[in-house]
Parts: sequence; C-alpha cells; structure tokens
Amino acid sequence: MQAEIRSENKKPETRRKFDVIIIGAGPAGYTAAIYTSRAKRETLIISGILPGGQLMLTTEVENFPGFANGIMGPELMTTMRQQAERMGTAIIDDEVVNVDFRHKPFKILTYSEEYEADSVIIATGATPRKIGAKGEQEFSARGVSYCATCDGPFFKNQDIVVAGGGDSAMEEAIFLTKFANKVHVVHRKDTLRASKVMQDRAFENKKIQFHWNTIIEEVKGNQKVSQIMVKDVTTNNVNTLEVGGLFVAIGHEPNTKLFKGQIELDEQGYVALKNHTQTNVEGIFAAGDVHDHRYRQAITAAAFGCMAAIDVDKYLSERKK
Ligand code: NAP
Repeated sequence: MQAEIRSENKKPETRRKFDVIIIGAGPAGYTAAIYTSRAKRETLIISGILPGGQLMLTTEVENFPGFANGIMGPELMTTMRQQAERMGTAIIDDEVVNVDFRHKPFKILTYSEEYEADSVIIATGATPRKIGAKGEQEFSARGVSYCATCDGPFFKNQDIVVAGGGDSAMEEAIFLTKFANKVHVVHRKDTLRASKVMQDRAFENKKIQFHWNTIIEEVKGNQKVSQIMVKDVTTNNVNTLEVGGLFVAIGHEPNTKLFKGQIELDEQGYVALKNHTQTNVEGIFAAGDVHDHRYRQAITAAAFGCMAAIDVDKYLSERKK
C-alpha cells in the first residue's frame, strides 16, 4: 500500500530558480523546508516517487515527541508537508533523474523540468533491504517491520523472528527481548557478521534462539503475521515458527545513486559530510538517513533537516557578502 499525499488547490509551480532545492520529502526534507522557508529563502522540495518516505509505510508512531497518544506515520508526514507549505515552500511530486553539481547555480533535472538552485539539501533517505520472501511485502506494517526501535513495543509478550546476522540484527534482537517472550534469529550462514561484543551479548541472552543456515521462505497470517516458514539450507527441511512478527535487519541501501561522481560518498554509499551538514561540494548539504546510518529515526532525520537548513541559510548569507 502506498499512501499518496497531494496538496489541494495548489497553483502549478512556474518558478525555475530557487535559493535552495531540497531533494526528498521525508522528515529531514520537510523540516529543512520549514526552516529555510521561514528564513525567507525561496525553497522547492522535489518530493520523489514516495512523498513522506519510510513513514508512509508505517502505522502508528509512538516515539515522535509532541503526540501524547501517538500519530499514524502518513498523518505525521501530511502534517509536516502542510506546515512546510504554510511557510511558503513550493513542492512538486516529481522524480529527480539527473543533477549537475559541477557549476553554480546547481542544476536539477526531473522527468518534466530543469531547475536551478544556489544551494541543495539532499534528503533522499535510505531504503531497508528486503528479503524478497513470499508474503513479506503483503504483511509490511502488519507484523513485518524494518525498525525495531519504531515497532518493538507493539510486540509485547509475543514470539518474533529477526532476520540477519550483522550488528543491526543483534542490536534489534537484544532490544526486542525487552518486549517479546522469545526472539528467533534466523541467519543464512553458520557464523555471524556482527562484531564480537554484539555476538557475545546476543549469545548470553536467554530469550534469543539462533537458527543457523536458515532462510525465510514465506510470511503467513490473516490480518497480521502469525507464521514464518523457514528453511534449513543444509537439509532443505522447512519449519514453521508460530510468531507475531518478523523484523528484517539485513542492512540499508542509501538512496545516493543519483549523486555518484558528483559528491563524495563513503564506502557504503552514504553521503560523506565534511563540515557539519555540508558535503565536499560547497553549497550542497545532506540531511537524514542518506548520511546517517547510526540513528535512523524520524526525530533524528528531522533534527538533521533543521541543521542543514541553518547551515544553508548561513552559506547563502555569507555568499552575498
Ligand atoms: P550488515 O553489516 O551489512 O549485515 C547485514 C546482514 O544481513 C548480514 O549478516 C548478511 O548476511 C544479512 N543479509 C544480507 N542480505 C540478506 C538477504 N537477502 N537475506 C538474508 N540475509 C541477508 O548490515 P547492518 O547489520 O545493518 O550494519 C550496517 C553497518 O552499521 C555495519 O557496519 C555495522 O557494524 C554498523 N552497525 C553497528 C551497530 C553497533 O555497533 N551497535 C549497530 C548497527 C549497525 P551475510 O553475513 O551472510 O552476508
């Protein structure tokens, strides 16, 4: 299910040149826009194909401050978008297909237009890797989750599966034992990729059971996940785990393909920051999961958006001196 957010009664955007163009419309992009627009910088968000980012695929968000009773992910993003528009941000729901950061003003090409900007904030986020198992997509946000911090508390006293063998999988499995009765870690190999300290912590935890050389075959259920079919790849035996959820923790892919060769990326493909939120190219900034592979929270992405906007404002002021 992909929820859509479209603004009503909005005039078509006719301007082509902006003080700042923000690529991406998750919490980082919207927050950056709220700040730059409020600072009277002409701001355009090019929102991409999934405006709202990962939060459009979640249900209730309980840990974003300010909502005592929680808020649905799509509603949070719609509200942020309306707030950015109220501050004067122009938003187009188009996809960026190419950028030219070699000369100023910077050029950004979408499917339908070319835009120019004196500064750019990259807020394209990261996409959690999918296993590709049958039922995984169907039960996404109905028991299949890609973020234990976000969704763990919904699984109190249940048995759950964590897929993966890296640091994220161990961290998530250990965290989930606070809520779950039992956590099954399903890993495709017979050794973990996670650091020794994380392995030791997971091995010591009595609520965690490891299933080695095992892959997720299928996710089953009715309204919600109730069974995970797993296969031992050494024997081809298929087992059924009666669980309420599946946490997929097999890594993330930063959405940076567009920027390869234009700005510096780290060895995992995340944007490398040089000076606070600025990249190696003066005038190009980044915010949120596209550079942050440590925290990956809506609130931290929003905070990075705020920081990038303040850095942009300072950069634009200093350029004019
Ligand atoms: P990662 O280190 O790349 O590990 C991914 C894990 O998922 C690996 O065990 C891999 O299996 C497995 N995997 C990948 N694709 C799969 C597939 N299609 N089906 C089944 N399993 C699959 O990713 P990460 O754990 O998210 O960590 C990312 C980076 O952040 C790492 O550098 C990590 O050290 C760091 N990190 C650190 C901490 C911490 O120190 N507390 C916490 C989280 C993350 P194989 O082993 O078979 O390849």
